[in-house]
Amino acid sequence: MKTTASRPRIAASARKIAPTHNGHGNGESSARRAPLKISPHLGAWLKKPKHNLIGGKWTPAASGKLFDVFNPADAWVIARVPDSDKEDINRAVAAARRAFETGPWRRMTPSERGKLVWRIGDLILQNADELAELESLDNGKPRAVARVADVPLAADLFHYMAGWATKIEGNTIPISVPYAPGAQFHAFTLRDPVGVVGQIIPWNFPLLMAAWKLGPALACGNCVVLKPAEQTPLSALRLGEILLEAGIPEGVVNIVTGFGETAGAALAVHEDVDKVAFTGSTEVGKIIVRAAAGNLKKVSLELGGKSPNIIFKDVGDLNAAINGAANAIFFNHGQCCCAGSRLMVERDIFEDVVAGVAEQAKKIKLGPGLDAATEMGPLVSEEQLSRVTNYMNQGKQSGACYVTGGDRSGERGYFVQPTVIKDVKPDMSIVREEIFGPVVVAEPFTKPEELLPRANQTPYGLAAGVWTGDIAKAHRVAAALKAGTVWINCYNVFDSALPFGGYKQSGWGREMGHEVLEQYTQTKAVVVGL
Ligand code: NDP
Repeated sequence: MKTTASRPRIAASARKIAPTHNGHGNGESSARRAPLKISPHLGAWLKKPKHNLIGGKWTPAASGKLFDVFNPADAWVIARVPDSDKEDINRAVAAARRAFETGPWRRMTPSERGKLVWRIGDLILQNADELAELESLDNGKPRAVARVADVPLAADLFHYMAGWATKIEGNTIPISVPYAPGAQFHAFTLRDPVGVVGQIIPWNFPLLMAAWKLGPALACGNCVVLKPAEQTPLSALRLGEILLEAGIPEGVVNIVTGFGETAGAALAVHEDVDKVAFTGSTEVGKIIVRAAAGNLKKVSLELGGKSPNIIFKDVGDLNAAINGAANAIFFNHGQCCCAGSRLMVERDIFEDVVAGVAEQAKKIKLGPGLDAATEMGPLVSEEQLSRVTNYMNQGKQSGACYVTGGDRSGERGYFVQPTVIKDVKPDMSIVREEIFGPVVVAEPFTKPEELLPRANQTPYGLAAGVWTGDIAKAHRVAAALKAGTVWINCYNVFDSALPFGGYKQSGWGREMGHEVLEQYTQTKAVVVGL
């Protein structure tokens, strides 16, 4: 969430338009970076004017305003996209409403709808290299990671949801109405789409979050207005082209770029939106809930986390646990709602584990996402850089011990050092609050009875990890953890078929799996007097 006054935060001297066709050197020397090449295809795409997708047409913002989109590796401007506001949201919601009430979408058979959703997955795979490059450029994550994780997972989600389009079923229900003796009825339920859905997504997995939201909404027959994050709107706009190519009818998906306080807020409060689905901070999640109260629209939320990752001394393979703990926090530069940011280790092996994770942290190669050698890119924005380094400083001031890291890396771009901290206390902000960067706090524990209350001592409840060779203990601990996902002897395992979401202040409802269909349908009971 940003304030208008603080935007943009890029020093004027750093705000330059990147020569996207042939790399992004700006004449300044950079010791750790060779000039990077963007593929000609992507360079050409970036140069095209960017518009909102409303009613099947690419449309400029009503105000005509644009805002800059940056490459977080060097703060270069890579594109300008519509700075949309309430008027654009009104138009997009009207287009979605028309498509829902009178367009061909609702008249399609489930099979036809499923095939269209499947085709989106196919087209994502056909354009996988370009999408991975775009995602890397816009978000900062390594292109190789986007290519093996974000893009195929997004395609798989559409493929998985396509299958559900033909399996959204009601029940027949035998009823025994006590005040109508002898009367006969045929009673059944239908699962109707919710209607017009507003979807507000974050920047950490831009394409994948769009897929998590759009896939089930479309499979269930809804129409959508999607607002991507201001930092990373580009893959959503490219996805809009793919949706049109797949044959999704006009108005079924509308994509509006803009800021949270303007476009996002207008969508959340809109009286003709039937549901809002949000992923982002818990703080904004609460704002969304309040905004939704006007017309009591349905709300689903996927919010923050401060997930415990617990390693017992009886872990079978200590190296696997150390690697798993490093992956749990450093994957996607720690910008994961489910990051294993609290490493809890049985005291006997505490120093070994901390040293092992720190060793991994030191070896991680930082660099621009488009550099093939890069293992960790920059944080997504100057705001995130400032947020994460502030936490690092707070930890130092409160007396925590930095085993490795703890600072910004380099002068350009938004890089931070992978960081491992020990000697922490429960009341420190770095232990209690979501940092959303590659920063892990490690705490030893001695007795199992002290472990679980501490592990659960957080307002969040998104995920947790448990590493042990004792299968019974693993199940006991998993059962006691207040988290929507528990990984045992693994971490960050995602699948389109697995529900994902949070306990407590980590959210409402679940993404993915068949559970998400609950979020995008409503039940109608029909009773026929015979
Ligand atoms: P936000 O929660 O502000 O952003 C998420 C989305 O909500 C963006 O599309 C944003 O738009 C939009 N938004 C912001 N304010 C409003 C509003 N008033 N009404 C409607 N929509 C709004 O996250 P930030 O980007 O500010 O990141 C802050 C922190 O949030 C991170 O440090 C992290 O802790 C957490 N976070 C959690 C994520 C998760 O996956 N659960 C993902 C991202 C962040 P815009 O970006 O244009 O402002």
